[in-house]
Amino acid sequence: MKIIMLGAPGAGKGTQAKKIADKYQIPHISTGDIFRANLKEGTELGKKAKEYMDQGLLVPDELTLELIMDRFKNPDCAGGYVLDGFPRTIPQAEALTKALEEKGESIDFAINVEVPDENIVNRMSGRRACLACGATYHIVHIPTKVEGICDRCGKELVLRDDDKPETVKKRLGVYHDQTQPLIEYYTSQNKLAEVDGTQEMEAVFQNIVKILGA
Ligand code: ADP
Ligand code: ADP
Ligand code: ZN
Repeated sequence: MKIIMLGAPGAGKGTQAKKIADKYQIPHISTGDIFRANLKEGTELGKKAKEYMDQGLLVPDELTLELIMDRFKNPDCAGGYVLDGFPRTIPQAEALTKALEEKGESIDFAINVEVPDENIVNRMSGRRACLACGATYHIVHIPTKVEGICDRCGKELVLRDDDKPETVKKRLGVYHDQTQPLIEYYTSQNKLAEVDGTQEMEAVFQNIVKILGA
C-alpha cells in the first residue's frame, strides 16, 4: 500500500503516519525527519536544507527529489510506504507520479488531515520532538510519561526551532501557497480522502483505518 499524508504543518500527519506504519507494516518516510537526521550528522545535504528550514521555507525541489528517489531504492519500500511531508509542491507530486508510472505503479491514497489554521499555532508550540527516534508528543494533548523524556527511547525532547510562532505563521503561508494545491491534484486523480484532524488522535486514526480498509 502506498499512502501520502497531506495537511498543514502540525495537522498530525507524522503522528498518524507512525500509527499507519505500525498497523500495516510499511515504512514511514518523513522528508523532514531525513533532513533533520542529516542536519544532526552535519552532512552537506543537512547544511543546505537547514538554511531553508530555519526560515520556514521549503527545501528546493531538486534537493528534495534527489533525497526521496534515493530512499525509494531501499528494499523496504517494495511493499509500499506511508509518505509524510512529501510531496509538498506540484512539481514534487508530478515527479512522484512519473517515477511510479515508469514502474507501472501508482499511489493508493492521499489522505488529507484537515485542521484549521487557528488550531495550528497551539499544536506547534506544544509539540515536543525526539530527534533521536523521530517520536512526537504534545505537552497537553499527547504527553510523555516523564516530562521532557521520550517514552520510546529515553532521550531528551526538544522544541524545534521552526516550531516557534513566527516561523509557524510563515510555514502556514508557504503551505497555502505551495502545498494546498496538491488537494486539487489528488482529487483529480481520484486518490483523495479527507479526515477531520481536530478529533483526538485515536478517533482520527480510526477514520483513516476505515478509508484504508482493515
Ligand atoms: P511538519 O511536520 O511540521 O509539517 P516537517 O518535519 O515535515 O514539518 O518539515 C520540516 C521542514 O523540512 C519544512 O518546513 C521544510 O523546510 C523541509 N521539508 C520537509 N519536507 C519537504 C519537502 N517535501 N519539500 C521541501 N521541503 C521540505
Ligand atoms: P505534522 O506531522 O502534520 O506536522 P505532528 O504529527 O507532528 O504534525 O503533530 C503536531 C503536534 O500536534 C504534535 O505535538 C502532536 O503530538 C500533536 N497532535 C497530533 N495529533 C493530534 C490530535 N489528534 N489532537 C491533539 N494533538 C495532536
Ligand atoms: Zn525517542
